[in-house]
Amino acid sequence: MVGLGRTGVAASGWLADHGVRVYASDADGRPELRDVAEKLRAKSVVVDVGLHDLQRIKECVAVVVSPGVPPNAPPIVAAHAAGVEVVSELDLAARMLTDSKLIVVTGTNGKTTTTALIAHLLRAAGRSAEAAGNIGRPLIALADGSTPLEWVVVEASSFQLHDSPSLAPAIGVLTNLAPDHLDRYQSVDAYYADKQRLFRNATAASIWMLNGDDVGVLELAKDAAGEQRRWSTRAAADAWWNRSSNKMIVGDREVADRAQLPLLGDHNVENALAALLVVAAVGVDVTAMGRALETFSPLPHRLERVRDIHGVLWINDSKATNVASTRVALDAMDRPFVLIAGGQDKGESFEPLAPLLGNCRQMIVYGATAKKFQQQLGNTVHLIVVDSLESAVRLGVDNAQSGEQVLLSPACPSFDQFRNFEARGDEFKRLVGNL
Ligand code: ADP
Repeated sequence: MVGLGRTGVAASGWLADHGVRVYASDADGRPELRDVAEKLRAKSVVVDVGLHDLQRIKECVAVVVSPGVPPNAPPIVAAHAAGVEVVSELDLAARMLTDSKLIVVTGTNGKTTTTALIAHLLRAAGRSAEAAGNIGRPLIALADGSTPLEWVVVEASSFQLHDSPSLAPAIGVLTNLAPDHLDRYQSVDAYYADKQRLFRNATAASIWMLNGDDVGVLELAKDAAGEQRRWSTRAAADAWWNRSSNKMIVGDREVADRAQLPLLGDHNVENALAALLVVAAVGVDVTAMGRALETFSPLPHRLERVRDIHGVLWINDSKATNVASTRVALDAMDRPFVLIAGGQDKGESFEPLAPLLGNCRQMIVYGATAKKFQQQLGNTVHLIVVDSLESAVRLGVDNAQSGEQVLLSPACPSFDQFRNFEARGDEFKRLVGNL
């Protein structure tokens, strides 16, 4: 097992419980992993923390990869070189979940929201369904032998798809495509090629739900066997948003009013349309789904309303770890706003943000990318560099006026200053909570 995050631990434990001899390792040596290692050793798993024993890996019968481990990581390269089969935890778990049908959701942005929406709508319609995968619950956790679920909704990243040769979704969803992970892929094409692996086991019985407004998505899917359905927020499609009536429509049915969706931003209409298409394909009566959309709880760190202080709404969009998702957040701003951004540099240009900063009264940047923001956007917007998220929040309080919004949408990963985007968003909420 390569990688000892939540998924790696769950998969190692599952394999050991099922009589498999397991070697598990993580290059990271952080102290929390030592406790995890002890628990696994109690199950007779051989564990290395802070290193991968490449020799041992070469002698394994198969290597299971945790999500987030890139295909070019040394232990994966070593396994391939030695002819050892490499599979993702998703693939391993999918092989065990033979009694459930899989709905696999991938794309650059909107995966988690769409996955959660699909599971929510299916459950609201009385179907047995759970969400798993990248959404924060290892898929293997559903393979525990209890009553099989009818539907399992799986959020899959490109890395997971890379090593999932037997993943065969009954329904697959491709939300959108934008350059991402350029720090971990050699080219955009290599990244898109991994996304295309969603279709690798397509058959005439497969159903693919595609973003009809995204030419890259349609191009990637064009040769996939099976039925293809599309959603659109611009024109009539299998599921679409009629902007003049403000209705979401599936087939010839008006399902819900835009206002019934408790999520900020038009991108979430796309996510809702994708989810509605899926549940319609499963045979759910979509006319009952308007009420179900209303009861969906917004996910944390994704355009999450934190607090209204003296007429200033503070919004946490810490999940925006790339330029494309910050663009989406900027598009959702319906009043003047102060933008807080910055973090680790993953090689993206920030210039595509410029056309969306018309309503941005001030941009406050911090972290490793602060200078780069200044160089690329300093002439477009009133931009101030500070040393930390805390200073940015303090400056935001001083400068935002009643009727405005303060948006944390970093456009960068958090790893220069935080453990992950959740820790960054939680810190933002704590700081705002203390104001
Ligand atoms: P993912 O799991 O793919 O990262 P999330 O649902 O967690 O997606 O959303 C992450 C961020 O991506 C959101 O904060 C938002 O900025 C952006 N986003 C969400 N849905 C969409 C969409 N349909 N199109 C474009 N961007 C989106």
